Amino acid sequence: MSDDHRHDPNPHGPAARVKALEELLVEKGLVDSARLDEIIETYQHAVGPRAGARVVARAWCDRAFHRRLMTDAVAACAELGIAGPEGGHLVAVENTARVHNLVVCTLCSCYPWPVLGLPPAWYKSFAYRSRAVKDPRGLLREFGVVIPDEVEVRVWDSSAEQRYIVIPERPAGTKSMTEAELADIVTRDSMIGVGKVLAPSRAGGRRGAR
Ligand code: FE
Repeated sequence: MSDDHRHDPNPHGPAARVKALEELLVEKGLVDSARLDEIIETYQHAVGPRAGARVVARAWCDRAFHRRLMTDAVAACAELGIAGPEGGHLVAVENTARVHNLVVCTLCSCYPWPVLGLPPAWYKSFAYRSRAVKDPRGLLREFGVVIPDEVEVRVWDSSAEQRYIVIPERPAGTKSMTEAELADIVTRDSMIGVGKVLAPSRAGGRRGAR
């Protein structure tokens, strides 16, 4: 076995099997490993969650866009030049004072690549996938998000047919911020539903400087 496998605790585990499958596909000329690397690089660095953050910031600032996003997220994202594989069936779900949305893929790791890039490792873990359904409030507490009892938690199970982006609540005290500044404070976790967007702190942020 090659050196590549020496850190894998389980030589028959999923990682080793995926690697063997990839090697076989490359060997048979069915996939081009350089092209695979290019795709992963693109979604890890060039796309990433900043695309989703632009969508959220636009929705916060433009009511008409917000309406279009909630009706047809694919078309609304296309307006911002955001489209691509794994994004053809995107649905936007919105957090409010009464509802908190949480996204999971209980089966595997379906995720809206064009708006969020590649999923974080924990999103693919069995613990996350099972607890999101069995104990969403407990899971959210571990992410530091405490949802009051009176707020409903809605869990959305992604699939190849449907993927979700959470539109988090715009934090108080951000009225004077521009759309670009708002996009800067929108986090990946808030668009999965395991985080909240926080206003820049008074001490360190621009508001404190004024
Ligand atoms: Fe999946």
